[in-house]
Amino acid sequence: MLKSKDNFKSLKKRYDNQRAEPPVMRPPSTSSSITPSKIDFIDDKEPSIKNSIFSFSNKSFISSIFNSSKRDLSNFDSNVKPKSRLQYAFNTFISQKTTEPAPKDSFRSSMAFDNSTSSSQFKVVILGGSVAAICAARYIEERCQKLVSITIIEPLKKVFLKTGASSSLTDNTSLNCLFVSPENIFKLSQNSIIRDKAVLIQEGHVGLSMGPPIPFDYLVIATGSSYPPPISYPSLDYQHTANMLTRYFQTLNNAKSVLIIGGGATGVEVCLRLINNFYQKNIAIIHDKDLLLNHDYSESYRKKIQQKLIDSKVKLILNDTAKISSFINYGHPPKGRWIETTSGKMLFFDIQINCSGPTGNSDFLKKSHLDYDNVVEKQSKFIKVNRYLQILDSENIFAVGDVNNISGVKNVERAKSQARCISKNIGLLLQKKLHPETFPVAKLSVWVPDSINAEITLHKNENIPSNQSKLQLINSFKSEHYINNEVSFRKAETIKKIYKLYNAELGTYGAL
Ligand SMILES: Cc1cc2nc3c(=O)[nH]c(=O)nc-3n(C[C@H](O)[C@H](O)[C@H](O)COP(=O)(O)OP(=O)(O)OC[C@H]3O[C@@H](n4cnc5c(N)ncnc54)[C@H](O)[C@@H]3O)c2cc1C
Repeated sequence: MLKSKDNFKSLKKRYDNQRAEPPVMRPPSTSSSITPSKIDFIDDKEPSIKNSIFSFSNKSFISSIFNSSKRDLSNFDSNVKPKSRLQYAFNTFISQKTTEPAPKDSFRSSMAFDNSTSSSQFKVVILGGSVAAICAARYIEERCQKLVSITIIEPLKKVFLKTGASSSLTDNTSLNCLFVSPENIFKLSQNSIIRDKAVLIQEGHVGLSMGPPIPFDYLVIATGSSYPPPISYPSLDYQHTANMLTRYFQTLNNAKSVLIIGGGATGVEVCLRLINNFYQKNIAIIHDKDLLLNHDYSESYRKKIQQKLIDSKVKLILNDTAKISSFINYGHPPKGRWIETTSGKMLFFDIQINCSGPTGNSDFLKKSHLDYDNVVEKQSKFIKVNRYLQILDSENIFAVGDVNNISGVKNVERAKSQARCISKNIGLLLQKKLHPETFPVAKLSVWVPDSINAEITLHKNENIPSNQSKLQLINSFKSEHYINNEVSFRKAETIKKIYKLYNAELGTYGAL
């Protein structure tokens, strides 16, 4: 399988043309179901929430009786619990020492009585329709009720849940449940979804690919990240994404040799699935470090995983890199290819699974009033945020979920906790606007970092110089902060939770 460079110099030239061109982004066809016009999925009838015992005002009333206004009563909400005693101490330290005092959540109760009369005065626009966006939309709707109108902008009719992408490579029956429509998420009729793509941001407006610009008072960027196929696919038609995954599944079934490019969490997850599902395949994984995974996982766990792969006869090519940087979507379409590594190896595999990592979906910020180079990380394209999850220098623009540059394991729970944080902050900023005499300063809510690496990013973003206390913090949490991080393998529970978030029905889901 592995041969020296010299033997293959001539072959290299011959097979160079087998390198894949990136898939072309297909423009949406005018006759398709993807229309540029505003699509309001909510019935015109009065929302049932208004008269329900669980309505906003009733909740606040009940909360105030039981003195529990800070507790979130949402049925889809699960408060992030500290993972350990140290984690708890860490969280407390963060909120006490490095952040503003936690604000009283009085906005909910003060607004509860205004709600029946006020019409939507403020416009909240959310970019993206995946996990982070839907969480944000639901939290903001619940918190601000009729004070705001929320518009979600998402180009896909059915959002692709990339959480389960790798499982469909080895079990195609799970494919159907990886696409979900956001059409049922709102309870209130003033909120809506526009099927379009944000292409620029100007002060107070989002420019769209097809429709007219959309004004906003508050903007939530939840546009996530893109991976090379097969983890994601740049098509607006979910059927194309499904076809791509099916093609990978079929090619994998017939392949004798498989190369996984990148030994991060995605590459390791794919590798574990291949070991579990296929026999007698030559599997190799190429990774640029001497240990698989990264510093978000404990060293002992990384060693354990590495040993497991070695025991399963996976060929590890460590401290080496596949020369594919100029081919963003290398490996697509799936077929046999030669690949050159920086150490001079020439390798041939029947299929290559490109797990070389994500880039943030933030190109629309290039055309904006913001200083792009200052607010977006150059290589990764992730958006820099402060501890309140505001884009640097913008009080009314937030970035949540995978699209922001906060280090650490990015997952559904994190997206949820960030969405909860910015919903509070939008509420607090509204409160300041509506009652400037009572609330001259909005003490914003801090997103509590879920790891030291996350905390370090926030310090960097805010240009806080490293000091003694921070170093102490790092030392005391060195062995604790990633104690629970493992590569997630079973997806069924996560997908079920996501479906619940979308108020959608989950059919049969194969072996997720
Ligand atoms: C292989 C893999 C396995 C994973 N497994 C797990 C797991 O087991 N458990 C877990 O909790 N997490 C898991 N995750 C992480 C989880 O999938 C992400 O944290 C989650 O999807 C983040 O959601 P998001 O909304 O921030 O971004 P995304 O899911 O990336 O969604 C972004 C949305 O924004 C839209 N968008 C993009 N550009 C624009 C634009 N210009 N205008 C408007 N909309 C736009 C996109 O169409 C997309 O729908 C996994 C991730 C991967 C890649």
